[in-house]
Amino acid sequence: MRLALFDGDRLGLVANDEKVVDISDLVSAPAEAGPGAAMLMLLGKLDTLAEEIEQRAKSSESGLSLSEVKLSSPLPRPGKVLAAPMNYAAHRAEQKASGSVAELGVFLKANSSVIGPGESIQLPYTDRDVDQEGELGIVIGREAKRVTEEEAFDYVAGYTCVMDITLKGQELRSTRKSFDTFTPIGPWITTKDEVPDPDDLQLRTWVNGELKQDARTSEMIWGVAKIVAFASSVMTLYPGDVIATGTPAGTCTIKDGDTVTCEIEKLGRFEVGVTAKDAVPAPHYE
Ligand code: MN
Repeated sequence: MRLALFDGDRLGLVANDEKVVDISDLVSAPAEAGPGAAMLMLLGKLDTLAEEIEQRAKSSESGLSLSEVKLSSPLPRPGKVLAAPMNYAAHRAEQKASGSVAELGVFLKANSSVIGPGESIQLPYTDRDVDQEGELGIVIGREAKRVTEEEAFDYVAGYTCVMDITLKGQELRSTRKSFDTFTPIGPWITTKDEVPDPDDLQLRTWVNGELKQDARTSEMIWGVAKIVAFASSVMTLYPGDVIATGTPAGTCTIKDGDTVTCEIEKLGRFEVGVTAKDAVPAPHYE
């Protein structure tokens, strides 16, 4: 199943890569719960609703054409966004970084930094570089606390494409990667039944149509199960929490007017813009 948010806050089932079937009636989230609350509820009830959703997919003649709707991020305000640093050896080498995910653990990105397809990354500063990083995103489906690697997939709802946009510099990762708009997520969530091996997917990113990253998730130092198990040993994971699994080689600086595209095998592709419209000189704090 491919679960999307579209036309504001409507819940959609994407069928055959071309139709969106409105399934908003399956859960009722109060409007004051904020954007995407319905998706978080749906993810928490996927086990019981899966059959009903499959039925809707079969009657998808009634759906809207994907080209007619405006997709937003499937998880506009996840409970939390975690990310694995330095999880690809080739990226570590290009960054001349010391330490891998095994030494560094995971870090948090602000959940307010999420944007969706067609929105724009806002460069904060006129005089500091910002890089793009395409990553496989794990979407949690069940409350997970200290789960083992063997049982980790029981707690995963599915996967999505994540861009972990990064201000270059010396501040902590959580600061450099938490600016508003720095976590594009899209185009939808693909449930795990459609992704038998998330540890072997092609991942590609382009800037202005030029291929920058082209790798397989089999190159990850820690695979999906290990990342989920480790993260759940630190903090309880909840439905809709997202874990970005690290970026392969090929990150590069993005500039005003650029377009960044991320595509992962079986998960789809999406694109965001880049703007320096409100950028200011970086402040110097003492
Ligand atoms: Mn990253």
